[in-house]
Amino acid sequence: MNAFWTDPDFDDHEVVHFVRDEARGLTAIIALHSTHLGPAAGGTRFWHYAQPVAAMRDALRLSRGMSYKNAMAGLPMGGGKAVILADEDRRKTPDLFAAFGDAVQGLGGKYVTAEDVGITVADMVAVNQRTDYVSGLPVAEGEAGGNPGPFTALGIYLGIKAAVQHKLGVESVEGVHVAMQGIGSVGGGVARLLAKDGAKLTLADISTDHAQALGQELGADVVSPDAIMSVGCDVFSPNALGAILDEEGIARLDCKIVAGGANNQLAREENGAMLADRGILYAPDYVINAGGIISVTMEYLCRRDNAPCDINEVRKRIALIPDRLTQIWQDSEAKGSSPDRVADAMAQALIGRE
Ligand code: NAD
Repeated sequence: MNAFWTDPDFDDHEVVHFVRDEARGLTAIIALHSTHLGPAAGGTRFWHYAQPVAAMRDALRLSRGMSYKNAMAGLPMGGGKAVILADEDRRKTPDLFAAFGDAVQGLGGKYVTAEDVGITVADMVAVNQRTDYVSGLPVAEGEAGGNPGPFTALGIYLGIKAAVQHKLGVESVEGVHVAMQGIGSVGGGVARLLAKDGAKLTLADISTDHAQALGQELGADVVSPDAIMSVGCDVFSPNALGAILDEEGIARLDCKIVAGGANNQLAREENGAMLADRGILYAPDYVINAGGIISVTMEYLCRRDNAPCDINEVRKRIALIPDRLTQIWQDSEAKGSSPDRVADAMAQALIGRE
């Protein structure tokens, strides 16, 4: 076995915790990539991995992405991520979340958790019974926080509009064709916002019943998950899992823009340049999908500092996402460097890793 730190996904992470509590059924990895700007913040993923090494890769890549995301969103937080290795039937128990809460508490505030794929608000409420370092908890109407999905969706919707304006030169998404891979908490929200503006939608989800139901509700076409990446469209919006933009995936695309919420869309670093070579405008994932972390971080900071937190403040910060993307695309064109590289360089400078 190679040394852990020679793994291509290891990026001088500050610390990686392997957590095992057999009695309470918890196996988890908590990776803290950077605390340069503040406590490492990032959600918890609950997933069944065929191989434990895949869980480690997820934790490493996702935590680095959180450092970049929080820095680019202007938040006073570093980057971290937890993955809980679910068993095959993805069984959740109160004991499991108690053990996870204890592990987070044990880090003494260096890591602040929230929801990610497979984790609900109710799960975070359970974790919160054991630790102070949780965000994404239920909040009163009009306050920042709660389920991050709708805020993430809002940022992506605004980012898609900015991309359409930048690449296609049109102000509105009316009649613009968006192909959506994954219509869960985030993708479903984006689809609804786009549908309101009259976008033409094609949807796909491995939960085919869900895809059919939303397709019917929004008057959208539905295709199989295998077909969605090759749908001829203006915008391909990935909102399921990461690493879909590899050589094969990029070759299949028939779109002008890739803009969606999935984390770590590029399978490898060089894939960003491949998109650019094909003339496809890419919205770096951690810039466009920051709406949820903006909301839950503001919720956390408000609770920690005992300050009221207005949802409009969250919306104001999310409204800056399109400008940030446009700046990246302009720099990318000026420097002849792909948007992902431009964004990475900006983020690395912000976290003191130039
Ligand atoms: P979710 O579990 O609610 O939705 C994911 C959806 O993708 C599900 O409906 C699932 O059936 C579908 N799916 C899975 N594999 C698929 C495939 N191969 N083809 C088509 N559909 C597939 O999760 P979510 O919260 O909507 O998150 C989606 C993505 O966005 C993830 O990559 C997540 O890390 C990222 N993200 C989420 C948030 C948030 O606020 N929830 C914030 C930032 C980034």
